[in-house]
Amino acid sequence: MILNDDEFGEVIVRRNTLSRGIKFSISTSGRLSMSVPAHTSEFLAKRFLNSNRKIIRTKLPVKDPETQRARDYQKKILMKKAKEYLPYRLEYYANLYGYHYSKCRLTHANTRWGSCSSNKTISLNIGLMKVPEILRDYVILHELAHLNHMNHSKDFWSEVGEHDKLYKVHEKKLKQFGPGL
Ligand SMILES: [Zn+2]
Repeated sequence: MILNDDEFGEVIVRRNTLSRGIKFSISTSGRLSMSVPAHTSEFLAKRFLNSNRKIIRTKLPVKDPETQRARDYQKKILMKKAKEYLPYRLEYYANLYGYHYSKCRLTHANTRWGSCSSNKTISLNIGLMKVPEILRDYVILHELAHLNHMNHSKDFWSEVGEHDKLYKVHEKKLKQFGPGL
């Protein structure tokens, strides 16, 4: 459920069977998000929101509605670019170096550039479309190497180094950018 609030813009309400109380958080788009017990009505959700307005204002960095919409737009553009590029780039390097992954997922989490799960799904952050190609390639080679090493051991890094000799420089440079939008 979405509440349209004059002050906070679109407020995401998630009904959660496990939650007893109300919890406020910020979604990746900067929207206020509320987790409420399963059978909470819209009326009650609005009342919770109103009675917590002051504390939300001081504790949570809710972005104003205009910024939220600008971010949505940026995400849409990046997602489109990423869809046309990242899966193919991943496939290219996998073929080149003989890696086998099961699936490529595109994500937009604020915290990581990519990940590789034990079922061989490789996730790549659409924010990669904002960084130089060489760093994008580094992330791809890093995640591919995780197919053989699910850790950051010495063996893992030496495999990354086989395909990207400057990986240490690239890892460092990547820190100047954030995966968030
Ligand atoms: Zn890693």
